[in-house]
Amino acid sequence: MAGTLTLALTKGRILAETLPLLARAGIEPAEDIASSRKLVFPSNRPGLRLLVLRGTDVPTYVRHGAADLGVVGKDMLLEQGAEGLYEPLDLGIARCRLMTAAPAGWRPTGSRVRVATKFVNVARRHFAARGMQADIIKLYGAMELAPTMGLADLIVDIVDSGNTLRANGLEPLEEIATVSSRLVVNKASLRAAHEPITELLGALEAALPADGLAA
Ligand code: AMP
Repeated sequence: MAGTLTLALTKGRILAETLPLLARAGIEPAEDIASSRKLVFPSNRPGLRLLVLRGTDVPTYVRHGAADLGVVGKDMLLEQGAEGLYEPLDLGIARCRLMTAAPAGWRPTGSRVRVATKFVNVARRHFAARGMQADIIKLYGAMELAPTMGLADLIVDIVDSGNTLRANGLEPLEEIATVSSRLVVNKASLRAAHEPITELLGALEAALPADGLAA
């Protein structure tokens, strides 16, 4: 839509933390996102509409210009690469860590490990940097089940409180990266719609907590 900016949001936990931030920036969806099955929402800000997508799809929409901007976890950007995207703002929300985890007490016996994860690129880089040979097994969910069922030695997954790991007899090993949600912008959109995008970035930046926690 000419003159309309599209901001793609990540559904779930990130959305729950994004909506209050948008509200502080004066941006409200025209209807209640949480109770709707729609995926596209007009907003109260003229010329801005919101999309609600899975996190894995947000960088794709923004990279191809199907959305001009997006809110997405750094874990997705590390996994998918940030080609075609600017990453101007760390929103400081949905903080967590990308970690390796294994059954309590597990230690590697050689240089070869079996790793179950949905973050195959992150995992490959991590183990290659340690000179370890990793057989990566791609999963789409319930990573923490894989070691118990003998599918893998360890996992690479997102850890927040660590409760999910503990509940499945796993313990965190190494931190690969700290994660928070980022605002990403399509590079061509930024050139074509520099003024409205810069204004929107300014409004969002002003809405971030001033205590430095969002840095
Ligand atoms: P926890 O049990 O608190 O360590 O949470 C771990 C699980 O919650 C992980 O398996 C993730 O799938 C999910 N999770 C926690 N924090 C986030 C986040 N910031 N973004 C996406 N998923 C998350």
